[in-house]
Amino acid sequence: MIYLDHSATTPMDPEVFKAMKPYFIDSFGNASTLYTLGREGRKAMEAAREQVASLIGADTKEIIFTSGGTESDNIAIKGTAYKFRNNGNHIITSTIEHPAVNETCKYLEKNGFKVTYLPVYNDGIVKVSDIKEAITDKTILITVMHANNEIGTIQPIVEIGALAREKGIYFHTDAVQTVGKIPVNVKEMNIDMLSLSAHKIYGPKGIGALYIRNGVRVEPIIHGGGHEKGIRPGTENIPGIVGLGKACSIAEENLTKDMEKLTILRDKLINTVLEQVDDSYLNGHRTKRLPNNANFRFTAVEGESLILTLDSMGIASSTGSACSSTKLQPSHVLLSIGLKEVEAHGSLRISLGHENTEEDVDYLINAIKEVIAKLRKMSPLWCGSGI
Ligand SMILES: *Cc1c(COP(=O)(O)O)cnc(C)c1O
Repeated sequence: MIYLDHSATTPMDPEVFKAMKPYFIDSFGNASTLYTLGREGRKAMEAAREQVASLIGADTKEIIFTSGGTESDNIAIKGTAYKFRNNGNHIITSTIEHPAVNETCKYLEKNGFKVTYLPVYNDGIVKVSDIKEAITDKTILITVMHANNEIGTIQPIVEIGALAREKGIYFHTDAVQTVGKIPVNVKEMNIDMLSLSAHKIYGPKGIGALYIRNGVRVEPIIHGGGHEKGIRPGTENIPGIVGLGKACSIAEENLTKDMEKLTILRDKLINTVLEQVDDSYLNGHRTKRLPNNANFRFTAVEGESLILTLDSMGIASSTGSACSSTKLQPSHVLLSIGLKEVEAHGSLRISLGHENTEEDVDYLINAIKEVIAKLRKMSPLWCGSGI
């Protein structure tokens, strides 16, 4: 099998698993206890906190461990909303956020908050001038993702952060798709809160972190013992935390090398497909995109058939078509960049990982050519190139 769906999840690095292993059975202590066994766990947790902080240029005191990207997003957004509801009830976000942000904003709308969903235009990028115009004296939070999980577009985070800082508004970014893949530095990027997740960077599922800049306050959304400064109570998942830390340190070590390798593979894939497959298009910005992301659309092809046929050829990939997975609506991201529903149905997302080779990409290109030709032959929508 050739795995090309790394934006959905990644295989766990064996080195990560090796680092985690002792903390399941031998060193199982509760990190809140005073005896040696507990201290061992606590020491491992604090070492992991340093590894996470180092990858994003944060201080260790600014890292809160959570159960993943979804929980980090929820704490940042609801936590700010609840803490500052007396200062204002307005939140600014984009139309292409991950459901962990999008649905949280929608929930807050049902509970007295007002949310502005900014457009992203055809290239999938938010305009900083739109944010500027949307800000009111009631705005308490701007949350815009660093890079999109479907179309890979990278947002002007530095400028958004600078604007938020100037206006005294908190700025949160969902960086689940960028941390460990492209350089992220929370200080240089003017970020107040940042979400990250281990399983998108060869770590275990069910563990992540929220960076909260020193001095930024949020209201906890769950309550319990005082773990993680009371912001995320609950006995710490030490094996998961150790795995997240290890995944971060491996990612930091290989960042430049992986970026260069993936960019070359991505560009070969994009250029060859656009050149050799009739009526194929790229979704999202050509260059302001993740080094591992390509998102195509093919006229008169249905995404689900495309994914299943590629699967039968040993390729794991993804689509924004409604018929795929369990969703009823086509991808809100693809609709937000101006695609018609029928166009959104013909999309294919390829997300590469560092274990992919040029042979994988060549095999994929040939498979795409073959499958598109085959599906179009059967499609009632296809009347030849140029429709
Ligand atoms: C995967 C993903 C999440 C959710 O992270 P989990 O750890 O799976 O909860 C949030 N945001 C983005 C952009 C993602 O890609």
